[in-house]
Amino acid sequence: MSALIKVAHLTRVFDVSKPWLNRVIERSPKALLTAVSDVSFEIPEKSVYALVGESGSGKSTIGKIMVGLVPPSSGSVEVQGVDLATEKDAAKVEAVRAEIQMIFQDPYASLNPRWRVRDIIAEPVAVKGGDTTGLAEKLLEQVGLSGKDAGKYPHEFSGGQRQRICIARALASEPKIIVCDEPTSALDVSVQAQVLNLMTDLREEFGLTYLFISHDLTVVQHMADIIGVLYLGRLVEEAPRDVLFSDPKHPYTKMLFAAAPRMDGFGREVEPPKGEIPDAINPPSGCAYHPRCPIAVARCSTERPEMRRIGQTRVACHLAE
Ligand code: SF4
Ligand code: MG
Repeated sequence: MSALIKVAHLTRVFDVSKPWLNRVIERSPKALLTAVSDVSFEIPEKSVYALVGESGSGKSTIGKIMVGLVPPSSGSVEVQGVDLATEKDAAKVEAVRAEIQMIFQDPYASLNPRWRVRDIIAEPVAVKGGDTTGLAEKLLEQVGLSGKDAGKYPHEFSGGQRQRICIARALASEPKIIVCDEPTSALDVSVQAQVLNLMTDLREEFGLTYLFISHDLTVVQHMADIIGVLYLGRLVEEAPRDVLFSDPKHPYTKMLFAAAPRMDGFGREVEPPKGEIPDAINPPSGCAYHPRCPIAVARCSTERPEMRRIGQTRVACHLAE
């Protein structure tokens, strides 16, 4: 199966120095935050690849790199054979970028309150000079809303409806890939499932490929074909969904599962995640998870574990088997 998206050794470092603060407290002038560190994964066409992790794990940064909102510091993002980071032919890059759209967490913040929904949805096509006649009405129907509402403003819709509007706008330019960053976490639980089901239906109807970013394992179990687990900017485990849920191999993945409520809402007590996420400006040496890991051994604090393949799983842990 050929990959539509190939991410290789992706790294993004942010300069978070505060010069004014350095002058006052005389600390080192450079503070660098490695948000994404040597991350590699592939997304097969028409599949859903989920990136999960706590906040600060780098998942949103990867999403922003995918759509070109943030450039990578190093590494590559290849889509349909074009490396978006290094390709010199601007027209090629633009053609591939046009195939990628993004849906954000907060559907209200990403809709211009002064625009009618018709203009919001049609905008990606209008800016390219395309024909927008009846487009918004058609897309509203496709996302389960009424085409008759195209003349309304965003505030006249509920949160779930607004996320449907964002999805309609994302579909307007007929993309192949949609990057979804926590698309339902601002919504009521009762509405979440409806929006996720819509996304599943649209995926089948339009042959879409999703990069699905979430901290919520329940949502990920519902949506993903492949799951990548991020910790402090590093990919620590990746496996097909059912393999990951039945046989998690990385101690961090196991901890996430122990902390997550069960899908059926019954059963064991939920354990809160243990320990704080360390400072990404001064990440722990060796395996970044070692200060929290219940089974860490001496080499874990000095040697960074490489990704290894075990069956269908890729895992970065010295002790995984
Ligand atoms: Fe734990 Fe060591 Fe594995 Fe890291 S490499 S997860 S510290 S056992
Ligand atoms: Mg985020």
